[in-house]
Amino acid sequence: MGTSNIADKIVVITGASSGVGESTARLLAANGAKVVLGARRMDRIDAVVKDITAKGGSALGFKTDVTKRNDVEDLVKGAIDKHGRIDAIVNNSGIMPIAPMAALKVEEWDRMIDVNIKGLLYGVAAVLPQMQKQKSGHIINIASVIGIKVFAPGGVVYGATKSAVRMLTEGLRMELHSQNIRCTIISPGAVATELPESSSEEETRKNLREFYKMAIPADSIARAIVYAIEQPADVEVGEVVIRPTMQDF
Ligand code: NDP
Repeated sequence: MGTSNIADKIVVITGASSGVGESTARLLAANGAKVVLGARRMDRIDAVVKDITAKGGSALGFKTDVTKRNDVEDLVKGAIDKHGRIDAIVNNSGIMPIAPMAALKVEEWDRMIDVNIKGLLYGVAAVLPQMQKQKSGHIINIASVIGIKVFAPGGVVYGATKSAVRMLTEGLRMELHSQNIRCTIISPGAVATELPESSSEEETRKNLREFYKMAIPADSIARAIVYAIEQPADVEVGEVVIRPTMQDF
């Protein structure tokens, strides 16, 4: 089953209950990776695990809220208990409640920081000791094109969290490359997932649905993640930016 550099790799994925995380889990498993999946919607995680297993793949699922450090620790511990090592983590969980700053959606600002930045950092903290012990590993962090060029009004706090993801990942790369730990930033443009629905205003959701008519399938991002993981150990993919051809930013 699958390509040699993916087969039997142990890959932890957060936010694997839908969209990019789910597609990545399915594609990795189809290529022979053993995936360990976390998200809050356990019914969705169970369904993905069941489907992968029915197709002959290996998948484990955990109820994981990335804003809870213990949950993320348990997800990673679950992978190590089962498989004895971790080859890669895809820190993918994210939310995008778009709104102008003047709307003062302070609770949504907090949530974006908690999920998109702190949740991702908990993932890094959970895998790092194991990867250092192994002297190998791969940390893949999902950022966004809005972390490269801010979209405003609307995407200011979201863009700031994704810009932070890019900065954190490049800093991690500089710190960890000498320990044989690879770091990759994946920066998608508009991808057809449930993400735009995380906005709290109907008018914004309506505008996003219109904009997302050009969106590309989640599988296009999954393929980039697989590409980064399947490179030989001495080849590090630093950043991949994938957007719809029609998208201008
Ligand atoms: P989805 O909404 O389909 O997926 C988001 C995932 O994040 C879900 O599986 C959700 O699972 C999970 N998540 C949200 N909150 C939490 C939490 N507190 N704890 C654990 N998991 C959580 O959207 P996408 O697949 O598009 O999003 C995946 C990543 O891609 C995100 O980081 C997003 O910012 C990024 N991205 C997406 C783009 C797009 O256009 N779609 C563009 C650029 C970047 P659950 O609710 O079950 O916990």
